[in-house]
Amino acid sequence: MGIGYKEGVLRDEFMRLDLHNPLLWAIIQEFAAFSETMFDVDIIITSIFRPVPESSVHAHWRGVDCRSWIYSEEQIELIRLYFDSRWQYDPIRPEISTVIYHEVDNGGLHLHFQSHSRTMAVDRADFQQN
Ligand SMILES: [Zn+2]
Repeated sequence: MGIGYKEGVLRDEFMRLDLHNPLLWAIIQEFAAFSETMFDVDIIITSIFRPVPESSVHAHWRGVDCRSWIYSEEQIELIRLYFDSRWQYDPIRPEISTVIYHEVDNGGLHLHFQSHSRTMAVDRADFQQN
């Protein structure tokens, strides 16, 4: 439901993500549900596992990239607010989010979701749906 893939191989990678990193898999499922409910838009996964560079979370099944141009800037802000209200990437480094809207190496702007071994669900009251 609600998940599209830029390339067919990503469908298999997403199934493997459930084994490598069930928490990030669940976060992406939550994004798909949020996108469908709030915007009636299927998410599109554009990248999951990338072995290099080794310093990237993508080399460790801790990153998933999703297409962002299908959302307005306002919708992207809502996505960021919602996921910051739901997940804490690392309590020791609270400035880091589970979702980052960025561009890397001229690859185009995208939504980068990531998790850490310390990532935890939080229940902050600061997200309020209008
Ligand atoms: Zn990424």
